Amino acid sequence: MKSDMKSKMTDSALFENIKTIYRQISHAAMGAGREPGDVKLIAITKTVDARRIKEAIDWGLRIFGESRVQEAKVKIEEFSRLSTIDYRLPTISWHLVGHLQKNKAKTAVQLFDLIHSLDSIELAEELDKHAERAGKFQRVLIQVKLSEEETKHGVPKEGLADLIEVVAEMKNLKIEGLMTIPPFFDDPEMAKPYFRELRELRDNAVKSGYELPELSMGMTHDFEIAIEEGATMVRIGTAIFGERK
Ligand SMILES: *Cc1c(COP(=O)(O)O)cnc(C)c1O
Repeated sequence: MKSDMKSKMTDSALFENIKTIYRQISHAAMGAGREPGDVKLIAITKTVDARRIKEAIDWGLRIFGESRVQEAKVKIEEFSRLSTIDYRLPTISWHLVGHLQKNKAKTAVQLFDLIHSLDSIELAEELDKHAERAGKFQRVLIQVKLSEEETKHGVPKEGLADLIEVVAEMKNLKIEGLMTIPPFFDDPEMAKPYFRELRELRDNAVKSGYELPELSMGMTHDFEIAIEEGATMVRIGTAIFGERK
């Protein structure tokens, strides 16, 4: 009885969080003269267990992002088992948002609809090879490093044009846009120039003839600013599922 009560409370907190986020997304989009429907919510589920993800699905979320291949594999396999026994489970989409090592490229191709973190020609070659073997067209975003922080992955902006050119030629990869993670600032307005720069890099690539509709930028702390600058995918974990341990 007690545990029933508890899970109901958790449920509705999750629902409230999701409603709040959607309201904030709509507000930010409309404030920038954009359509709220043009911003996709990617619910980031690192450290979140399968039971809570299932609750989030019940509340209508459909796209989930993980940052580690190994952790994602366990959850995604659990969900494929669930879908075979529960016909009501809707189709959900899994994205990889964290750094990808070449030796995990094969598993990543098996698991993810969209990989946000392509950042080198070597990794692209590896993904292309495994996508071909799997008979899959792998959708990717190129992660761009716009700050000097040591820990951030991504291709430096000077190398972006070359990487786009090479990946666009690969038969089994499809680049759909760019992704970035700005440094953390207490004041999220400070991240604005980074989001703007990513959009400008995308616009330049479009002028050179590439089709790159997606801009994956903005997390719990700064997604509204990212939307003002054109984000089409916001990656939100904490504001949906609470603080990670
Ligand atoms: C964890 C993570 C997020 C979500 O961060 P929150 O601050 O919890 O919203 C988004 N993008 C990437 C790449 C992440 O690793």
